[in-house]
Amino acid sequence: MMSDCIFCKIVQRDIPTPLVYDGEHVVAFADIAPIAPVHLLVIPKRHVASLNDVTEQDGPLLAELLRVATIVARESGIADAGYKVLIRTGADGGQEVPHVHVHVIGGAPLVEHIAPREE
Ligand code: AMP
Ligand code: ZN
Repeated sequence: MMSDCIFCKIVQRDIPTPLVYDGEHVVAFADIAPIAPVHLLVIPKRHVASLNDVTEQDGPLLAELLRVATIVARESGIADAGYKVLIRTGADGGQEVPHVHVHVIGGAPLVEHIAPREE
């Protein structure tokens, strides 16, 4: 755990964010600033800074993050209509919270906008 990491604080319940999924290795909760009708975050309980820090031994953890993404999508009622799964990584990827997280975004037809930021 990283004491100054906001997502570690959610895992440790120092911040009482309601959890939509609470598993052995993974939790999920609503994004505080949703960009779609459904916007959830799925994170490992263990502090892993970014996708770049995932190692070969973390294969099962990565699989679990995606498996839980499908579970919370189904429980939110968006699975059949479809949704987007996003992992921002590093500065150019727009990652703001340095604890790896999978965005699950849906509940409406989504635009595709992946392009360099306009400064
Ligand atoms: P990223 O830019 O991919 O690092 O995404 C970080 C996401 O975390 C953003 O969508 C934020 O709205 C979200 N976020 C930041 N703090 C919290 C929090 N305390 N609870 C829930 N979501 C948060
Ligand atoms: Zn953390």
